[in-house]
Amino acid sequence: SSTAPYIGRFAPSPSGPLHMGSLVAAMASYLDAKVHQGTWLLRIEDLDYDRNVDGADAAILASLQRCGMAWDGEATWQSRRLPLYQAALQRLQGDGLVYACGCSRKEIHDSQLQAGAARNGAAVYPGTCRHGLAPGKEARGLRLRVPEGAAAVYGFVDRWHGALRQDLASEVGDFIVLRGDGYWAYQLAVVVDDGEQGITQVVRGMDLLDSTPRQLYLQDVLGLPHPGYLHVPVVNNALGEKLSKQTGALAFDTGTSAAGLLASALLPAARFLGLDVQAGSIDDFWRRAIPAWGRRLSERA
Ligand code: GLU
Repeated sequence: SSTAPYIGRFAPSPSGPLHMGSLVAAMASYLDAKVHQGTWLLRIEDLDYDRNVDGADAAILASLQRCGMAWDGEATWQSRRLPLYQAALQRLQGDGLVYACGCSRKEIHDSQLQAGAARNGAAVYPGTCRHGLAPGKEARGLRLRVPEGAAAVYGFVDRWHGALRQDLASEVGDFIVLRGDGYWAYQLAVVVDDGEQGITQVVRGMDLLDSTPRQLYLQDVLGLPHPGYLHVPVVNNALGEKLSKQTGALAFDTGTSAAGLLASALLPAARFLGLDVQAGSIDDFWRRAIPAWGRRLSERA
């Protein structure tokens, strides 16, 4: 419908090999790019150095290739793009939007309980260090001020879930952009990269739905456009827990036949997305899955 070029991406964290959950996110973003004749970029989000697993990035790339999901251009690694995050931080600091915070996770959690405001376990930062560090407190990270009042309410239309909104002031609070351990926060890096790479559509798992308003706000303060968003359901295991690299591992080893990959990975992931696809080969699978995704989207619209 739109004539603007479509640029999408898959942005896995290399904390383990591709699993059913990340395959579903990869497949949805790939299908969405293809059905829009768009570009599909691959970005490895390897800034959480404590969670990176050696070789996981190469394993993810190899699995995507074996599945027939070819990305456009060169894959990028966030760890090679640090000056971009530094420049963004400087801009935010120049605008007086960032301050040092000395609160521990426990302090934030405790102040939350006192205020009786704990929401789904996600701690709202109470603004303790907003006007400076208390004497004797050491900086642990840098936080971005969120707006107050009506300006704090971010609404957007998710292409899967419809209209959503979040009040950043009461539901999130000022949030970390540079962690106490010196690592760049996911929220800052993802926004800088989506902006720098010209991403027009973000398609990812629903576990990131409640990060989206923070990202919309960061785009505003960094002068970046808002991409569109679509969050697909997250695969849960039999216990109802989100599948992680530890649970739902898939066999993408080179010993698995194409037929095995189709049966054990691609077809179940497509079925999870509500796509009714039968296919005899991987090529055949994508030929059918791309239009099936288009039909699925028009059903939801
Ligand atoms: N790297 C994030 C993850 O693997 C995804 C980031 C995104 O798609 O915005 O959960």
